[in-house]
Amino acid sequence: MECLFCQIVAGEIPADIVHYDEELVAFRDINPQAPTHILIIPKAHVASMTELTDKQQALMGRLILLAKELAEKEGISERGYRLSVSCGADGGQLVPHLHFHLLGGRKLDDRLG
Ligand code: 5GP
Ligand code: ZN
Repeated sequence: MECLFCQIVAGEIPADIVHYDEELVAFRDINPQAPTHILIIPKAHVASMTELTDKQQALMGRLILLAKELAEKEGISERGYRLSVSCGADGGQLVPHLHFHLLGGRKLDDRLG
């Protein structure tokens, strides 16, 4: 069974892509929870946080810096935003390909869950 986000990376499923490079892809969430709701993913399939190893240390650093850049491009940097990851069943992860949610453009809930 093909992974949904791997299919987006491959261009097999359309998405509103805002960033694409050799290692990382970012695209708008299909069901946005805020005016800016972007998903940032590693191109290579990693199922979730639990699968990360030391090998992905630099990649994860680049992903977070990309989130910062995209927040600036979206114009949400000054007022603030949230970068969040769901992991596993209790974390509410629905798509089993590691993704970071970049949310902003409105005052977000004080509660984290
Ligand atoms: P999770 O709950 O796994 O952290 O979040 C998965 C996210 O992927 C959800 O916010 C959902 O709206 C988004 N999503 C699910 N399917 C698609 C899709 O086909 N395209 C896009 N752009 N986003 C999707
Ligand atoms: Zn995948």
